[in-house]
Amino acid sequence: MPGRWDWLKEELSGISMLTKLPTMTKFLKGKISGPDDMTKCSMCPNMCRHACPISIVDGKETTSPAGKSRVGMMIENEVLSLDRENLLPIHMCLSCGCCEIWCPFDFSVSDILRPVKTRAVEHNIVYEEFVELFDDLRENGTIYEEIEDQGDLPDDGDVLYLRGCEYREGDSEVIDRTMSVLKKVGTDPFVIYDEKCCGIPAYNTGNIGLFEDLIEDMAEKIRGSGADRVVTSCPSCAYAYKELYPEFDQNIDAEISHIVEFLEGKKLKFAPNKNTDRFTFHEPCKLVNGLGKKESMQDLLDRTGLELEKPRRNGDETFCCGSGGTTVSRLNEELSSEVARERLSELKSLSDEIITSCPTCKRTFEDNDEEVKVHDIAEIVDGLL
Ligand code: SF4
Ligand code: SF4
Repeated sequence: MPGRWDWLKEELSGISMLTKLPTMTKFLKGKISGPDDMTKCSMCPNMCRHACPISIVDGKETTSPAGKSRVGMMIENEVLSLDRENLLPIHMCLSCGCCEIWCPFDFSVSDILRPVKTRAVEHNIVYEEFVELFDDLRENGTIYEEIEDQGDLPDDGDVLYLRGCEYREGDSEVIDRTMSVLKKVGTDPFVIYDEKCCGIPAYNTGNIGLFEDLIEDMAEKIRGSGADRVVTSCPSCAYAYKELYPEFDQNIDAEISHIVEFLEGKKLKFAPNKNTDRFTFHEPCKLVNGLGKKESMQDLLDRTGLELEKPRRNGDETFCCGSGGTTVSRLNEELSSEVARERLSELKSLSDEIITSCPTCKRTFEDNDEEVKVHDIAEIVDGLL
């Protein structure tokens, strides 16, 4: 695949320095100043659309990255009214950041458009599908109706393991295996039984008021646990705690890591690999583009000695599972599934055994294909340590 700046290098190649200098200066000036981000993105010839999972499966101009910005700009300039119908293309975004790595301005369309979503929620322009989510988050503190904590996990130790809504709701096996990994690397993991949602679904849907309430509560719980290290299974939770909480004045002194980050650089003694299966892997977009861990999951997997088939879209060119960002999966289930199937067809051409490190990716792939076996990375690591 061509690199991010190849198009520019190509345009400028063979031109003398004296001639290309004004063009480069103009570009850099436009990057630093120029019009606001939404206008810049609206005027772009969609230079990232080849990497946008929605564009790839949907193929429509309005849901392309720049297309969404154009709709946003028209709403902001009152050419279009702020209503559910006009807002719909804006919500067809997975918050995956796959546009950002190709963008000459370093934009992620999801960030550019969040203020429009927020203004809509403030004006009480909310989809029915979001009302239920907001009620669950407000009343139960989770994305589900209610979660009954299963198992008998310790509530005291030195590393706080935050399990996240998805695994608390439906995958106690991964929780147990993650606790086991944490023990095997010499820590004393514990959980909090009144764990709540990290708040990112409210953030993604533009309900910043609800997001602020949720993070105030959750930050207080984390601080109250006394832990100075926190580990999550979900990269979106880790991203929220690390990047979004401080941005919204909720600072947590504890060091926060996703399980892949936590194991990075740790001495791990893997048993010789007797597994003859070949695996492939899916790096979650929030791990790669959100937490900036472009190589970490592959490095960890390489150390296990498993037979791995690398997908074409890997590292910082990874893809979304289809359920990122909350809005697409809630408002257009079919489009979300199309993204999942697009990714699954690539992965399945390599192996039916898929390793990932995100509860949402795991559930999405399992929901969209009964034939594949999806493993959380903690299950793999635990089996070999
Ligand atoms: S995100 Fe960047 S590359 Fe993509 S359409 Fe907008 S300005 Fe262009
Ligand atoms: S964040 Fe993802 S889905 Fe949204 S515009 Fe960018 S690449 Fe497309």
